Amino acid sequence: MSDARLANARWPDVKAALESGKPIVAILPCGATEAHGPHLPLGTDVIISESIAAFALPKLEERGIHVLVLPSLAYAPAEYAAGFAGTISISMDAALALVLDIARSLKKQGFAMLALVNSHFDPANVAVLRDASETIVREIGLKVAFPDFTRRKLAEKLTDEFKSGACHAGQFEGSLVLASRPELVDDDARLQLPPNSNSLVAAFAKGAKTFEEAGGPQAYFGTPAGASAEEGVASLDCMSDMIVQAIAAQLEP
Ligand SMILES: [Zn+2]
Repeated sequence: MSDARLANARWPDVKAALESGKPIVAILPCGATEAHGPHLPLGTDVIISESIAAFALPKLEERGIHVLVLPSLAYAPAEYAAGFAGTISISMDAALALVLDIARSLKKQGFAMLALVNSHFDPANVAVLRDASETIVREIGLKVAFPDFTRRKLAEKLTDEFKSGACHAGQFEGSLVLASRPELVDDDARLQLPPNSNSLVAAFAKGAKTFEEAGGPQAYFGTPAGASAEEGVASLDCMSDMIVQAIAAQLEP
């Protein structure tokens, strides 16, 4: 197949790939429709997850691993940002049911694995994906690769801002969007935003339920003005490596 995106493929090509005898991995980019400061698009997390998948493709091909990239999950639990226009938050139950149904469909057709590429770190969304991963393996019998970037072992390889927890639409995510879809960044707004060092992770732990309560009245945390396309490319390279390693590890017999 000339295009690894499932939505661009025709069914006879997918059928032939599934019948080739080689394991076919389905990558699901997981994002959200959620406010990301006054300077980044609502689809930021979808853009980032799709970019990570795109960066992983040549690396997977190099290893002889066959993949199809599914249409992205653009709706997710996003209650922290629910007070900001444009955010669409769905329930954890709905999100879980959707991922499980996708996995059932993949299993029935003979896909070898579902790989979850997630960049929407709302704790409710991460909890859904962790739950889904375990349930898919246990109840559906499909392999899952889910490198959870919020786990310490992976997080420590990411940027200082990511590790600080003051990370939403700041330098980390701004860099990733600049590396992927720079035309969607309002750079005049971005460069004028003062840093916001309030840690979302600390605020979550203290029970904050909204970005406003967490000290982010404009739906951003971190340092938007520090973002660069170069940093974004480095992060994409690093996170795509983590995906490739997770998929390769699961493919081992
Ligand atoms: Zn985000």
